[in-house]
Amino acid sequence: MPDQSKLDRLNAELDTRRDDLIALTQDLIRIPTLNPPGENYRLICEYLEARLKPRSFNCELIRAFETPGDSEKYPRWNIVARREGAIKGDCVHFNSHTDVVELGQDWTRDAFGGELDGDKIYGRGACDMKGGLAASIIAAEAFIDTFPEFSGAIEISGTADEETGGFGGVAYLAEKGYFAPARVQHVIIPEPLGLDCICLGHRGAWWAEIETKGRNAHGSMPFLGDCAVRHMGAVLTEMETSLYPLLSSKRTDMPVIPKGARQSTLNINSFHGGQEEPDPDFTGLPSPMVPDSARMVIDRRFLIEENFEDVQAEIYDVLEKVKSERTDFDYKVREIQQIHPSMTAKDAPVVTSIAAAIEKTLGKPAEYVVSPGSYDQKHIDRIGHLKNCIAYGPGILELAHQPDEYVEVSAMLDSAKVMGHSLCDLLLE
Ligand SMILES: [Zn+2]
Repeated sequence: MPDQSKLDRLNAELDTRRDDLIALTQDLIRIPTLNPPGENYRLICEYLEARLKPRSFNCELIRAFETPGDSEKYPRWNIVARREGAIKGDCVHFNSHTDVVELGQDWTRDAFGGELDGDKIYGRGACDMKGGLAASIIAAEAFIDTFPEFSGAIEISGTADEETGGFGGVAYLAEKGYFAPARVQHVIIPEPLGLDCICLGHRGAWWAEIETKGRNAHGSMPFLGDCAVRHMGAVLTEMETSLYPLLSSKRTDMPVIPKGARQSTLNINSFHGGQEEPDPDFTGLPSPMVPDSARMVIDRRFLIEENFEDVQAEIYDVLEKVKSERTDFDYKVREIQQIHPSMTAKDAPVVTSIAAAIEKTLGKPAEYVVSPGSYDQKHIDRIGHLKNCIAYGPGILELAHQPDEYVEVSAMLDSAKVMGHSLCDLLLE
């Protein structure tokens, strides 16, 4: 850790930038980057470029051509801004996603107004994660101005599509080498995990669609057909009897929050059988049909202790057991996506550095957590092969994706101090 006088200087500098931090956060919230469909990515990248270029950041705007969702109407734009230090050394990269999720109902504030009320700034993305992006920018700028002789480099990226898998954002950049260990050594993702929490990684996920097959017939003579929904019912029964008890018996040593997620879980994301749902304005009646197909999408979250092949095999075991018990039972499994668990070691340099900075700034030891769902760390780990990556940022995780989402100015400022201290630790002699 650098000496106290340096940290004091940086803290004092950050305190003078409180208004700037508020204005920056408001500006970011006022650019509505809803995803889907993925609006205004270019605009927010240009905003960040206009902010960082005059501060000697080399800015690259990168479109993720032909990734899912990319089109002329909704191009997937990303920005990577890099500021070189005075001498060679490590690069610390702050990665934030610029997209926000749909608004939903029940807002009492202007969702894209960036309204400041007391210590809170309201708006979609305030907490997840434009507040974190703003805090990392302020931290980097204050650090650079206070210690222009720093070594190494600082990068700030604003990336698309995290909320929809990150393929037009971090995954694309990782494929293009932007997270290659030769270029970047430390990654901090300022997602809203809580001020004193270091998020080491996330559980894995396997999404798949299961289809059961049947045969159409007139609904008055169902014995002439074969009901796909009843077959799926048997699958659900078998899941309840054998699979769910098995999953809840699998515990993990990963410090997942909330604690209920320290086990394997399975969500049935959707279920559909038989005729399509009619349009809401259709006033007619359905026709009598025996369904020939039923489909459900499963979302299986798995642990670092589990083997991915076993995760798949458990589902096939359920389907094969039902098949052995029912005549004419047939099924299909279509994989939608697989995400492998990621967990950075507690003694990795970025972890120990942020942990020491939390202790110094907040006067309490850091808490280590793992996210129940995944975020862009998956791509930095799997595609970029960079293991020295964490999520650390301001904001309350539970507020993410909620109506009247907000971020606290004091939390942003404190987290900027933690990030700034970590920069002192990693980039000053
Ligand atoms: Zn997020």
